[in-house]
Amino acid sequence: MTGSEVSGRPPEAAAVVVGGGLAGTTAALALADAGLRVTLIESRPRLGGLAFSFKRGELTVDNGQHVFLRCCTAYQWFVDRIAARDLVTLQDRLDVPVLDAANMRLGRLRRAALPVPLHLAASLATYPHLSLRERATVGRAALALRALDLADPALDDTDFASWLRDRGQSPRTIEALWDLVGVATLNATAANASLGLAAMVFKTGLLSEAGAADIGWAAAPLGELHDDRARKALDAAGVRIMLRSRVTGIKPAAGGGWVVDAETGPGRGEQLDAGTVVMALPQRETHGLLPEGALDDPDALLGIGTAPILNVHVVYDRPVLRQPFFAALGSPVQWVFDRTASSGMTGPGQYLAVSQSAVEDEIDLPVAELRERYLPELERLLPAARGAGVTDFFVTRERTATFAPAPGVGRLRPGAATRAPGLYLAGAWTDTGWPATMESAVRSGLHASREALTALGLPFENDVVRAV
Ligand SMILES: Cc1cc2nc3c(=O)[nH]c(=O)nc-3n(C[C@H](O)[C@H](O)[C@H](O)COP(=O)(O)OP(=O)(O)OC[C@H]3O[C@@H](n4cnc5c(N)ncnc54)[C@H](O)[C@@H]3O)c2cc1C
Repeated sequence: MTGSEVSGRPPEAAAVVVGGGLAGTTAALALADAGLRVTLIESRPRLGGLAFSFKRGELTVDNGQHVFLRCCTAYQWFVDRIAARDLVTLQDRLDVPVLDAANMRLGRLRRAALPVPLHLAASLATYPHLSLRERATVGRAALALRALDLADPALDDTDFASWLRDRGQSPRTIEALWDLVGVATLNATAANASLGLAAMVFKTGLLSEAGAADIGWAAAPLGELHDDRARKALDAAGVRIMLRSRVTGIKPAAGGGWVVDAETGPGRGEQLDAGTVVMALPQRETHGLLPEGALDDPDALLGIGTAPILNVHVVYDRPVLRQPFFAALGSPVQWVFDRTASSGMTGPGQYLAVSQSAVEDEIDLPVAELRERYLPELERLLPAARGAGVTDFFVTRERTATFAPAPGVGRLRPGAATRAPGLYLAGAWTDTGWPATMESAVRSGLHASREALTALGLPFENDVVRAV
């Protein structure tokens, strides 16, 4: 049944979802699929939130390279739900080229067709960026990591780097292995990451199922998935989508339920009544709109910090990279992705995106300075770039790309249910157990819908979240 088929239902069957990122889009779909009459309100002119695209000449540019892993089951559910499987690529088998700028040696982190943990053993045994001794210590640390109980709240109080050091991991091992993966997935170095979140990433991605860390990415601009396809799916589910509409207030209605105030244009507004409201906003915006009494300690939301991601975009007049992506060590460059085909670029050139996580010290640097830093570095790493012309260079900065996964953050993240009946929270920063990822956003939207539907006595049909 779709939302439009139930438009004769009473107001308690109406739901408003505030925020059209992945969390809000997911919640809107799940609630509409269960038969609620849903309105999705988004302040920007598009859906997709922090994972979006924009036009620049002939290119369609993503605000930042996004990847997911095979273990991101909720995000892949979402991709299927919006009928966008044809727009993503997923490696058959994990394979990450890792280039050390110090000696220009290329190593690979890849999995073999063996069960966990042997699937990575061969690759680690020959990983050229660590000494024999360092490689031996990695196995022991991985086994210790595997034995951690993710439900133990004490893990949240420890930082990942101290834990690794206590398990014999050298600074080089942390840099060349743990941070290589951790910085990209957590958006923090091991020193700034909660052991709980790091353990979650490494246990789930590398130590649960053999294929869990196979890497996936959008083969089309993110906007084609998270905006175009998502809108089609929402339309088909009967969800009313209000874009360019900013929610300014959420208040209890006199007879129960909620009144949501939205600014729909200059001097224009609309009030919506709903029995169910899902706030799928960033933590600061949630704090600003949260009705009184909804959380025991609303100010805890302000304690959840944020971390930036910078993407440096370079268009060359000829191909300079033959792989879809690679990671670098001993260089300011972290990960480089070939965006040529996915951006719609035609002609002989190549478009690369350099994805830089946890770059607090670089996020505000002027473009000219970033150009001076990154172009020579790319020439150092990619010999073919040395004679190539640069036809475009620009940067995208997301200062609040993710929540900061710092030790202690776990106890600040609220769950989906609040103390206010009918009011639910979603967003990658809520308590999903995951770091700030697309997976966490989708999970949070599913959690919020599960809570809402359960409270309404309606069944929740989603295998992914039933399993967690
Ligand atoms: C550069 C970059 C790279 C990333 N890389 C990866 C990656 O490789 N893999 C990965 O899994 N994740 C990655 N992420 C993280 C991922 O994009 C986010 O975790 C996820 O998109 C968050 O979704 P969300 O719905 O929780 O929040 P948001 O996307 O922030 O959505 C919240 C929405 O609420 C809207 N809003 C705010 N206030 C109001 C209001 N008053 N009224 C109405 N609407 C409002 C906002 O406009 C926004 O659309 C990356 C993020 C960035 C920025």
